[in-house]
Amino acid sequence: MQPQLKQLGLTQLEKALPALFETARQEQWTYELFLTRAVAAEIEGRDRRAAERRMTAARLPTIKTLEAFDFAFQPSLSERLLWELADLSFVQTATNVLFLGPPGTGKTHLSLALAVKALSAGYSALFTTLTHLAEALDTASYPGLVRQRLRRYTTPSVLVIDEVGYTKLSPGQAHHFFELVTARYEHGSILLTSNTGFSEWGSLLGDEILATALLDRLLHHAEVIPINGRSYRMKDRRETLETGGQK
Ligand code: ADP
Ligand code: MG
Repeated sequence: MQPQLKQLGLTQLEKALPALFETARQEQWTYELFLTRAVAAEIEGRDRRAAERRMTAARLPTIKTLEAFDFAFQPSLSERLLWELADLSFVQTATNVLFLGPPGTGKTHLSLALAVKALSAGYSALFTTLTHLAEALDTASYPGLVRQRLRRYTTPSVLVIDEVGYTKLSPGQAHHFFELVTARYEHGSILLTSNTGFSEWGSLLGDEILATALLDRLLHHAEVIPINGRSYRMKDRRETLETGGQK
């Protein structure tokens, strides 16, 4: 039986079968119930494996959730808006979401949380930083390889580009970044985090005209979320200072 299941590619059922037989005997399942459960075991196993593959492919540095986000700590942020985004219609409409604010305000946390939501709903996602992205596209030595690398960043339903503003791009990198934003425009969402105001993007890209054209596409269908609060990273330190070390 087991080899035949393998031959048919029913590897999940093959794994689940001994336990299914056991329960079926104990609970005296009907033939119908047994077959239903056997088919369900294969489907559930496949879904689980697909979800694991999507999660690995997304290269998230850590798992963060909206549930674990302390909205009370960041009052400038609309909790309702974030929960609306979590229903993922922004993915369907290829709307971009931009989190702007100083370090430690939860920008990466929130973009990861939305990526996790998208992954669990069955969408593909990919996490990168702008520095990493720029290097990946820059070091590609011949045009075919650049195309191939670009495709890696254009195909996922959700692309997280973290930490825009920390590195200035070379002319080649800026050009590829523009190409990427153009390729995803109206096709796939970008979740972007930045500590830099839009007015500084010209110097970031080393080209005012390119920056204007890029922002034009990036912001056409976009939710821009400024976070003007305190750093969560400093929270504990500040509490310690305020209480003189007595917690
Ligand atoms: P940023 O990307 O804006 O610099 P992060 O998202 O990396 O900030 O947040 C820094 C750390 O603080 C992370 O571990 C994150 O999970 C946590 N954090 C930030 N804001 C909150 C919050 N409001 N509630 C819970 N954890 C938070
Ligand atoms: Mg960050």
